[in-house]
Amino acid sequence: MKTFDRRDFLKLGGAAAALSAAGCATTGAKARVVVIGGGFGGATAAKYIRLWDPAIEVVLVEREEAFTSCPISNLVLGGFTGMDTVRHGYGGLQRYGVQVVRDEAVAVDPAKKTVRLRRGGDLAYDRLVVSPGIDFTYGDVQGYEAAMQSGRVLHAWKAGAQTVALRRQLEDMRDGGVYILSIPTAPYRCPPGPYERASVVAAYFKAAKPRSKVLVLDANPDVTSKGGLFKAAWKDLYGGILEYRGNAKAVGVDAGGGTVRLEVEDVKGDVLNVVPPQRAGDIAVQAGLVTHNNRWCDVDWRSMESKAAPGVHLLGDATLSAPGMPKSASMANNHAKIAAAAVIEQLSGRAPQPLKIINTCYSFVSGSDGIRVSSVHQWDEAQKTLLAVKGAGGVSAARSAAEGNYAWNWARTIWADSLG
Ligand SMILES: Cc1cc2nc3c(=O)[nH]c(=O)nc-3n(C[C@H](O)[C@H](O)[C@H](O)COP(=O)(O)OP(=O)(O)OC[C@H]3O[C@@H](n4cnc5c(N)ncnc54)[C@H](O)[C@@H]3O)c2cc1C
Repeated sequence: MKTFDRRDFLKLGGAAAALSAAGCATTGAKARVVVIGGGFGGATAAKYIRLWDPAIEVVLVEREEAFTSCPISNLVLGGFTGMDTVRHGYGGLQRYGVQVVRDEAVAVDPAKKTVRLRRGGDLAYDRLVVSPGIDFTYGDVQGYEAAMQSGRVLHAWKAGAQTVALRRQLEDMRDGGVYILSIPTAPYRCPPGPYERASVVAAYFKAAKPRSKVLVLDANPDVTSKGGLFKAAWKDLYGGILEYRGNAKAVGVDAGGGTVRLEVEDVKGDVLNVVPPQRAGDIAVQAGLVTHNNRWCDVDWRSMESKAAPGVHLLGDATLSAPGMPKSASMANNHAKIAAAAVIEQLSGRAPQPLKIINTCYSFVSGSDGIRVSSVHQWDEAQKTLLAVKGAGGVSAARSAAEGNYAWNWARTIWADSLG
């Protein structure tokens, strides 16, 4: 695959095509779209813009060499699959003519329509797509950064090195130890993700170290997604192993003492997996795209265009979710298709048309059995947002191995759809 580093890109684009609309004349493209972030949102948008209009030049800026998928990463923690399953290269996007620049976007100037790269130089765009995922507000949990730097406290809420490190901590934990999973107040990335994690770690303990315990400390009053199905699985499969506590918000952490500090008490554990509160990724903050509560970016759901910066489209977890819409890979992939269609329409001088989108979130409750929730979201002209369609979607009737197989198929399909 041809991945362009900064030098190659300068050569290819003619000094990044002089960083202006003239760049498009140089390459013969009718316009240039720059995409920041090659995850479920950004990679899908880059691919679909090229697929639906090959006359548009698309440059994808991604800081990592390969994409590591959060979906299925909980199974890595449970020891049911390996990291190679969740790591995917960007080679597939080449077939669509997406130019992948391995670099980090450090600044956006929406007025000049440029993106500054860490390794130096600016990229000009006609339209910009930003899908940076989440970053964490570590300061909300006292002592978190020091604890994380010590390597003792992990979130593993961005799959990658921390997933590997957390799996190692679970393997090293003594039989009879306590694994604490602390969940922040919603909204956070992947509502059912923590409960899936608790379930598959409990499945691992049941098989490998049955005297151990999973203690879920949830800042929310109750399980935020698929509650009935998760609780039934915990009761049937992990009695005596998994304990769930609602309204248990972590306000501090002490790595040395092995404690998570709640508002009213301290809780001790052997492995402390504290997931901090979240907000839109750093570059969205830098670019002035955050509009809500210092955390999320409001968009026009017909085009995914930022309400703060015209010509900039925001996707995925970074967005201020529409009512009933989860922060999920499924949604990010669908946001990308709304944005791809809108970008093409707007570059052709036409108004974007609203699209109906679907979310499906599978979760594993053991190494093999899955459960599901799905929903349909459509534009509401009166409320000017996407609303969940009443009566469409719902949850699976019960956990089953068949739903587990569907979950694997869903993952393979979305990896192929997003990354080529
Ligand atoms: C444990 C877990 C399990 C999950 N399971 C599911 C599931 O089963 N189903 C589901 O639908 N969702 C699931 N999710 C949620 C899903 O992973 C996210 O909703 C999805 O990744 C959001 O896509 P995104 O494009 O917003 O961000 P991401 O997929 O995180 O992509 C962001 C990309 O941007 C890059 N980036 C960020 N900033 C810059 C920059 N400045 N310059 C260059 N590159 C940058 C990052 O390196 C990254 O590649 C899960 C999440 C977790 C944590």
